[in-house]
Amino acid sequence: MSTCCTPAPYAPPAPRSGEALRTVALIGPPNSGKSTLFNRLTGLRQKVANYPGVTVEQRMGAMAGVGRADLTLIDLPGIYSLDPFSEDARVSIDVLEGRMTGTPKPDAVLLVLDSLHLTRQLMLAAPVLALGLPTMVLLNMSDLMESRGGEIDPLRLAQELGAPVARISATKGSGLEAIQLFLNRHRGPDSTSLSATVLPVLGNAMSTYKWATQVSTRTGYRAPLSEEASRKLDAVLLHRVWGPLLFLVVVFSVFEVVFSIGQPLSDGLGDLLARLGTSLAGFLPDGWMRSLVLDGAWKGVTSVLVFLPQILLLFLFIGILEDSGYLARAALIADRVMRSIGLNGKAFIPLLSAYACAVPAIMATRTIENKRDRLATILVTPFMTCSARLPVYMLLIAAFIPNIAFADGLIGLRTLVMLGLYLIGFLAALVTARLLKSSVLRSSQTPFILELPQYRMPTLRSLGLRLIDRGGVFLQQAGTVILCVTLGLWVLANFPRHHGVAPQLTDSIIGRLGHFMEPAIAPLGFNWKIGIGLLSSVLAREVMVGTMGTLYGADPQTQSLSLQTALHHDLPLGGAIALMVFFAFAMQCTSTMAVVRRETNGWKWPAIQFAYMLVLAYGAAFVANWAVHLLWG
Ligand code: GDP
Repeated sequence: MSTCCTPAPYAPPAPRSGEALRTVALIGPPNSGKSTLFNRLTGLRQKVANYPGVTVEQRMGAMAGVGRADLTLIDLPGIYSLDPFSEDARVSIDVLEGRMTGTPKPDAVLLVLDSLHLTRQLMLAAPVLALGLPTMVLLNMSDLMESRGGEIDPLRLAQELGAPVARISATKGSGLEAIQLFLNRHRGPDSTSLSATVLPVLGNAMSTYKWATQVSTRTGYRAPLSEEASRKLDAVLLHRVWGPLLFLVVVFSVFEVVFSIGQPLSDGLGDLLARLGTSLAGFLPDGWMRSLVLDGAWKGVTSVLVFLPQILLLFLFIGILEDSGYLARAALIADRVMRSIGLNGKAFIPLLSAYACAVPAIMATRTIENKRDRLATILVTPFMTCSARLPVYMLLIAAFIPNIAFADGLIGLRTLVMLGLYLIGFLAALVTARLLKSSVLRSSQTPFILELPQYRMPTLRSLGLRLIDRGGVFLQQAGTVILCVTLGLWVLANFPRHHGVAPQLTDSIIGRLGHFMEPAIAPLGFNWKIGIGLLSSVLAREVMVGTMGTLYGADPQTQSLSLQTALHHDLPLGGAIALMVFFAFAMQCTSTMAVVRRETNGWKWPAIQFAYMLVLAYGAAFVANWAVHLLWG
């Protein structure tokens, strides 16, 4: 058991010759946490008196708290600037310049700044650094910076200031080892090399305020939102009525923008790639080689590549929503819905990330403790609209859904159809989960605890990294899987040859295969080419688009048309709608099947899942085709 005692009053050590660094001054604006830090650094061994002739309090102590009891720490009054208008500032200047009777001249300075209000607090940095003493800048309250989502780059700030910078938390005692390092390095007084950016302030080139603002901008500083502001935002965003409504508005706006900006970008990229293909033709000898490269590989791969702008835009928005702290609020809003289907809010995060891809989402279900909840979540995750479905939807929507708008151009029909597809996937997940949780996977409910992250401004860096990551995965897929499949398809579409001549598409191997399965898919309004697409896209959904590109490219009748136009001529409206519905429900992704097998330790569940989703997809596509016929003839 430790006994408590009042620390002995501090008496400064007598100066010893040869030991240069003896006295350190602690300076900072009021409320920057100076007293808290002083107590930590001195371990409460301090002496309090008044500076002679003034009412300003003087505190001194040995820096025993950081193992340097040989050093004296002098606490200066809390000040915002070194302008000698106030008594506090005059005392500080006198102490720092060694003109205060009875107080040793400091050999080094610790400048404490509140990182939550850094821009304003930096105004004290310029005059303090200008004194030329070895100075370390301490960015205090780093614990709050982190939890409330502020951004600060100490290295860049150090470069700007020409002085070492460390993030610390005086209350938690973190980051103090940097102070030890600084003290050890500065054994003797020397002057800090002032960086070029500080110097202009000294010569009154610009105002200190302007300088502080520029430095904080250049170093990418972002102040976090105050708790008060967070509370106010939450009151609206998590409101029982406004919360869900705003959520719908946000989701709708995202899709509207993805369409209105993404479509022209995508069209432009398509034109560019088509022109590139034409100029490529000149370099290839006429014959099967040119056909293989252009009609097979190029058409197939580029027909998927054109969706890159939309995919990047979608991920840009998902990134903004997630980094700003909004997505976690959406999970909270969704918890009520989740509970009604027997899952809890924890399942929402994997389900949400499945909008990108089911594979990481299924791995993210590991955070769900309840085994049955986890299995139910794994089984419904592939219903969420992953980004691989996007190219298929985009292609079919652009080809079949007219570009008309309602409500003064505010709500586009294409956006509505896209949202509808997302919605039916989500509903399928909810209904399936409800069925599972009320039958084979029934269990008692566990409470939902979710820590809401602080609101923050998303950073360009983090958004950029996301886009590179998602774009990379998409391009890799196009460059490997889709390239292989389209090349394979070209071969199957060009053989068997008779006397060296390629067969008609319908007589080719793939044509025969397609015709063989046509009766099974005809009730859905699909032709044999779609059948081939369905087969090849079991590998991965976006392969569908590449396959269509290759097949229509191999057909002399549609070769010169864009894929959209070719599809529009070849497929009835009922078949197109049914195809979208089929893709909303079917489990066409070998990677997902592999990860479900791994996570459930066997083929049983992925097999059940595949069969269930296929039956649902077939049934729903059948109904969709039939409904279109009924409504529009
Ligand atoms: P001074 O006016 O500069 O001496 O500031 P104080 O040391 O009195 O600190 C002002 C307030 O900030 C007090 O409530 C401290 O508990 C708090 N504070 C100081 N440092 C930190 C820190 O690193 N983190 C957090 N969360 N609070 C701190």
